[in-house]
Amino acid sequence: MKNIAILGSTGSIGQQTLQVVRQHPDKFKVIAISARQNIDLLISQAREFKPKYVAVTDDSLDFYRLKTELDALDIELLTGFDSLNVIASLPEIDMVVTAIVGFSGLLPTISAILAGKNIALANKETLVVAGELVMKLAAERNVKILPVDSEHSAIFQSIVGEKHQFIEKIYLTASGGPFRGMKTHQLSSITKEQALNHPNWKMGNKITIDSATLMNKGLEAIEARWLFDLHPEQIDIVIHPQSIIHSLVQFIDGSIKAQMGLPDMRLPIQYALTYPQRLENDFPRFDFLKYPQLTFEQPDLETFKALKLALQALKQGGNMPCVLNAANEVAVHAFLSNQIGFLDIADIVEQTLNSVEFVSYPSLDDYIECDRLARQFAEEYVKQVKR
Ligand code: NDP
Ligand code: MG
Repeated sequence: MKNIAILGSTGSIGQQTLQVVRQHPDKFKVIAISARQNIDLLISQAREFKPKYVAVTDDSLDFYRLKTELDALDIELLTGFDSLNVIASLPEIDMVVTAIVGFSGLLPTISAILAGKNIALANKETLVVAGELVMKLAAERNVKILPVDSEHSAIFQSIVGEKHQFIEKIYLTASGGPFRGMKTHQLSSITKEQALNHPNWKMGNKITIDSATLMNKGLEAIEARWLFDLHPEQIDIVIHPQSIIHSLVQFIDGSIKAQMGLPDMRLPIQYALTYPQRLENDFPRFDFLKYPQLTFEQPDLETFKALKLALQALKQGGNMPCVLNAANEVAVHAFLSNQIGFLDIADIVEQTLNSVEFVSYPSLDDYIECDRLARQFAEEYVKQVKR
């Protein structure tokens, strides 16, 4: 029996993690769950999974109803952002699923590592911002970081049993998003609704916009660099619209291993929870006859400038991925609240990258300061677009 805490249980990854748990009640016990503000769903999850702790981070909420419900179930309620650090380091927990969005995932992940908990890592922004520091800390504490992101799970599954020195390079596959094949002039009038309509995956809003701009693939390249200890030149991106091959590893003899399956996040989530075991489930199986063609294309870095900027930040290293991430979070939020246009997202990220000074070996405090400063610049550029 594995005891788990889920940071962000009401989100897309959080809910699918609970679906995996539901299939294997004898293998997993949910000890703690959390949300920012979705109290209704949190209450229904608490009733079903009976965790010991429930955490809510949005301090402005009225907790009365939640507290009454949880008291009746004998569940302890924790509130405020620090509650995530608390549930990530509970003594009775074996593994933490980090399924919250953005830079906010960094400190709770560090708390979990310091407490020696293995991590099922969905929150890619943690490794984008501070991958070197986080992986070093995990190695020191003998903590496993198991990828939930489907591409990274594919790479991870492909290198099980292989020596690191035999990896020549990896290919991260990308669906291309809803605007694949379009040119810049066609993207200027894209609405939020169009950008939220992803062809293959149903995900939270922030990552869905990142998938439409292709920033997501850039964030994943940075995530892969740290997760698998690769040089930036060893990471390539290929557009694969069917999202069946989830990524590939090429070895020094030219042999390639790929991991395939239907686009269903429950598979990588389950693998992260059960590694090195595999468990049976009743999820739908791949049917070759429904996919007579798997196709591949070059990414268009001119139209999808966000990806180009992310790959540049990957090469530059230091605090640049942190700046990129912060600016992107601000810009995506502004796009989702109808303050800026689709193409403004990458422009704001570019302007912010040009505004923050380079730091080659940032400390944790440097990252926190860099995130704050980059957000300030990005907010200013959002205001300029609105004017
Ligand atoms: P969602 O927006 O669907 O869910 C986010 C969850 O985190 C919710 O429970 C939300 O609470 C909570 N949350 C959001 N922001 C904060 C915050 N600042 N502080 C505390 N809690 C917060 O996101 P996804 O599940 O789509 O994504 C989660 C992470 O996983 C992201 O980093 C994403 O990039 C990554 N990922 C997601 C994939 C997917 O298929 N969805 C695939 C690969 C990676 P509430 O519901 O109350 O708002
Ligand atoms: Mg992914």
